[in-house]
Amino acid sequence: MAVLLTNSILYYNSRRTRSIFSALTAKPFVLALLILALAGAIATGLTFTTAYTALDSKTQNMTEEVRVAIWSNPEIALLKKPEFRNHTKLNEKPAPPIIKTIGIRPGGTLMGALVRGGATRMDAHQAIASLKTFLDPKRLRPEQKITLNFQPTSESESSLQLSSVTVHTSVDLNLITERKSDGTFVSRKTERQLIRKNMHVHGSIKTSLYEAATKQNTPVEIIMRLIRLYSWDVDFQRDIQAGDDFEIFFERLYNDDGTLVGEGEIICASMTLSGTQLRLYRYELGDGTTDYFDAHGASVRKALLKTPVDGARLSSRYGKRKHPVLGYNKMHRGIDFAAPRGTPIMAAGDGVIDVAARNGAYGKYIRIRHNQEYKTAYGHLKSFKKGIRKGVRVRQGDTIGYVGSTGRSTGPHLHYEIHRNGRQVDPMSVKLPSGRKLSGEELAVYHSYRMGIDTAIAQLTSSPLTTAQN
Ligand SMILES: [Zn+2]
Repeated sequence: MAVLLTNSILYYNSRRTRSIFSALTAKPFVLALLILALAGAIATGLTFTTAYTALDSKTQNMTEEVRVAIWSNPEIALLKKPEFRNHTKLNEKPAPPIIKTIGIRPGGTLMGALVRGGATRMDAHQAIASLKTFLDPKRLRPEQKITLNFQPTSESESSLQLSSVTVHTSVDLNLITERKSDGTFVSRKTERQLIRKNMHVHGSIKTSLYEAATKQNTPVEIIMRLIRLYSWDVDFQRDIQAGDDFEIFFERLYNDDGTLVGEGEIICASMTLSGTQLRLYRYELGDGTTDYFDAHGASVRKALLKTPVDGARLSSRYGKRKHPVLGYNKMHRGIDFAAPRGTPIMAAGDGVIDVAARNGAYGKYIRIRHNQEYKTAYGHLKSFKKGIRKGVRVRQGDTIGYVGSTGRSTGPHLHYEIHRNGRQVDPMSVKLPSGRKLSGEELAVYHSYRMGIDTAIAQLTSSPLTTAQN
């Protein structure tokens, strides 16, 4: 603001200088008048001439945008000559409002961000107290943008104060806290209208699903979700062969101004592996929950996950092997997933924490009891998730801890075991109990929904504009 205001003075003066010069060339008697005026100015203690020259040379460096911005600002355009004689007086003119977009620093606080953005501690404190109605400031992430609006104060038009804070909590929701006339802040939520557009991609796999899908311009987030969706049934290390096919019908989310703001849901996906098609549909059940079901109405969610850590590489299988630390042959009663230290580990299924403690060679260890028959165990953890302890109930996919290398371990990895009736079994070959299956009327409704989706996709794929060609 300060810069803008100073520049506006420069520009004003630059115009004055030019008009003076044209006057000089046109009418000689004006020169005499001017000299008189200048002499008068100097006599009143103003360094008029020098000021003009210096200011004019500075103005040359101003960008065109700045000039336009200044000149289009009515408050500045209204400035009158006398005010230029005294700089302290100038600063009392109305200050243009400022809108700033900021974010919290990693590990930083909202308080810190607001103060850094120019708010007083008092205003920041009041704005945050009001935002707390809808928001836990501690859960704000650095990528969530915050817009600060500063307006002239009611007492002095030349000084600005925080008038509102907008937290862009998600692509379709903003939280705003605004200063009322009595100085207090009041918060409200505003929703942003999102436009959903459908997209369809399909292709044939040559080396990996990831490579084939990115080639069809599939957003990475959608590919990762697809992999997660199929992780109950497909071992992406072993089951994918060259020539396998994939197909995804999904939504992309756009702002009201047409900007892509994120990915929507995968509505339908299909993978054809070695000639066998596994097609899944997202379906909302009568109770409002959504899940993915196969063509027969069986939930894709099995009772237990085969891979309880995202994006991990299977580094050691179940069975006899030369132990990497001990050096002799030993039975490996679980499978290992190599993953960076700190990668979240998910509960493989719904259940209750049985053990969350150090356990000899396992290092930091968690065991979950899922039902009478099944338990899963997780070894070498860096740490447990806050709140994870014996007796706590967890849902499938909840983070329970983080990959580490505690206990007898050569590097960060997750050692994962499935116990069936108290004995370890091979997680890769165990036939896992299946999840929910639709039946009766619900199954009939699902089938008609499913066929509607297939028809929509068939219509889309017959239009060359919306189809990614293989
Ligand atoms: Zn292991």
